[in-house]
Amino acid sequence: MSLYRLTVHEAHDLLRRREISSLELTESVLRKIEECDQGIRAYITSTADIALDHAKQADERIAANDMGPLTGIPMAVKDNICTKGVPTTCGSRMLENFIPPYDATVVERLREEGAVLVGKSNMDEFAMGSSTEHSAFFPTLNPWDTSRVPGGSSGGSAASVLGNETIFALGSDTGGSVRQPAGLCGVVGLKPTYGRVSRYGLIAFASSLDQIGALTKDVTDCALVMNAIGFRDPLDSTSVDEPTPDYTSYLKEDLGGIVVGVPAEYFAEGLDPGVEKRVRSAIEKLVELGAEVREISFPHERYLVATYFLTSSAEASANLARYDGLKYGLFAPDARSILEAQSKARGRGFGTEVKRRIMLGTYALSSGYYDAYYLNAQKVRTLIKEDLDRAFRAGVDVVAGPTSPVVAFGIGEKVDDPLEMYLADLYTIPANLAGLPCVSIPCGFSDGLPVGLQIMGRPFAEGTVLGVAYAFEQNTDFHLRRPPTSL
Ligand code: GLN
Repeated sequence: MSLYRLTVHEAHDLLRRREISSLELTESVLRKIEECDQGIRAYITSTADIALDHAKQADERIAANDMGPLTGIPMAVKDNICTKGVPTTCGSRMLENFIPPYDATVVERLREEGAVLVGKSNMDEFAMGSSTEHSAFFPTLNPWDTSRVPGGSSGGSAASVLGNETIFALGSDTGGSVRQPAGLCGVVGLKPTYGRVSRYGLIAFASSLDQIGALTKDVTDCALVMNAIGFRDPLDSTSVDEPTPDYTSYLKEDLGGIVVGVPAEYFAEGLDPGVEKRVRSAIEKLVELGAEVREISFPHERYLVATYFLTSSAEASANLARYDGLKYGLFAPDARSILEAQSKARGRGFGTEVKRRIMLGTYALSSGYYDAYYLNAQKVRTLIKEDLDRAFRAGVDVVAGPTSPVVAFGIGEKVDDPLEMYLADLYTIPANLAGLPCVSIPCGFSDGLPVGLQIMGRPFAEGTVLGVAYAFEQNTDFHLRRPPTSL
């Protein structure tokens, strides 16, 4: 069998039994990247030399019986997560030449565990987008159909996992950027509870929403990565001192006693009939496995998209103010004053979508409009959170529904219509606004393209969410299907 096709847990078993070495596994993944990435473009930077070095170090640890579940396992890291000495562009011309002097806390921890960095994955610029078409460099293509997008903004991470160009990947999720590309590619993607994973070294988009999450080939792998990255980090004051359970202990095959809430409002206009059909039959499957399904109401659902885009753009406008062309990023040597240097650097360094968000966010925060837009969005955010709290208080364990209203769309299809693109984020946004853990898993195919089922839980109930996902996965085979180029 080709080693690049292994999951984390399969590769770990073979490494532990000394049937393969990390070097063999890593070389196999690097060859796959060489062979396929020109047609997919999942990576902005490949780190082959570093990977070989990491693999050799891992093999020494394995020989000394000093190994954990991720030792010697290749990983892709989204290009907005800082990697010491390795370019971290955030998909932007603004940071094209930025080489971080430090590792993000998650990267540091994964390196301590012995994971092997194979590359930095492509993304929408500053994580703003749902298709990876807003990368300043090139779009990533969906391995299921290269005329279609892989989703975004962690599209490179999702495509690399689907394409077997890595064993697992990290992404970031502000309004769906781990789950939506996972859904559109047919892999597993988890956004943890806000505060579960350190954001130190994650280049900020919207600080009250951003979380780093895992993209993996199956649910077990996702639990293993979460075991490694879920902990309190003194360098991120929003990370929480909550004990990290062993998430694999939640992986059981039946769902007896689990109450699944399904918002009636989710199945409305705009939802593709093929997606609806797969998601409804996935929910029936949960019932077959012992879960009780209850219809719940989500009265503020219609305000989700507006609330998210106002909040995230406002925070982004503040976060991106630091790119002034002087301290960081692009520098305009032809400028004759500081003001001109700033305006030239920002004019040249940011792409259209980023500029659109900065303008929208600055407007929403400006005096005279703050109350009408930003403040109201915060009030509605509370109401949205209360809608979900109410369901959990009434005994619902998880909320289930589609990850996206549509399957992977064509390259160029939505890129000139921002509103159309934003509306496709409807289902992923609630978990960010309410800070809840939420996973997307493959639940079927429509027109030959994957459909994602989303499962959201109470704060810090990553275990429950992964448990429900695992039961579904073990009783279906959608996670095993791969496009021919991945094989
Ligand atoms: N697609 C959403 C946006 O454009 C979410 C992005 C994200 O989660 N980083 O903002």
